[in-house]
Amino acid sequence: MRKSIGPKLVIATHNAGKLAEISALLEPFGVEIVPAASFGLTEPEETEDSFVGNARIKAHYAAQATDLPALADDSGICVDALDGAPGVWTADWAETPSGRDFSLAMARTWEACKAVGAPEPRRAQFRCTLVIAYPDGSDEVFEGVMPGVLVWPPRGLHGHGYDPMFQPDGYDQTFAEMAGGLKNQISHRADAFRKLVACLLT
Ligand code: IMP
Repeated sequence: MRKSIGPKLVIATHNAGKLAEISALLEPFGVEIVPAASFGLTEPEETEDSFVGNARIKAHYAAQATDLPALADDSGICVDALDGAPGVWTADWAETPSGRDFSLAMARTWEACKAVGAPEPRRAQFRCTLVIAYPDGSDEVFEGVMPGVLVWPPRGLHGHGYDPMFQPDGYDQTFAEMAGGLKNQISHRADAFRKLVACLLT
């Protein structure tokens, strides 16, 4: 039997960009969104080597700590010519001694493609796995994907993370050039959310 996630849902992310996108995607459904940070939760270590494994860690940690259903997102960009890297390590490619730098991460990704002699266009997919964990220890998993190509130099000022270097198939703008909520209608996260909504909210 499907479980109900309303009326309160903990969002198990400390990433402001993801939190904003998830809030916008859930806004039409009248679910009260509570960020994990508002319970003073820290981020658990992501020790798995799959999106679903890491999303499960984050969602179950928040559900157990708050006694509420909790939603976690694990996502990243997978480049064909790099055998799917950076993949689950997408955020790690942005790490510097003084914090995350996504301009640097994008440059590292482009340079890694050059280093393996990848021809252009350099194909990639953004992938998103959503996990809803319940306080009783069960969970549900929804996966989304958006294929496209890497562009260089990066373009656009909207969005977050690798958005400026990713142009989704069927569009001539990068995610970071898309205004007015277009990214939220077509992204990997939107794809996963459509599946979640179809299962749990309609
Ligand atoms: P994690 O899921 O928190 O481990 O981090 C995934 C990383 O993938 C984020 O820090 C972003 O850099 C990147 N990422 C995930 N989704 C998006 C997106 O929609 N746009 C741009 N970057 C993203």
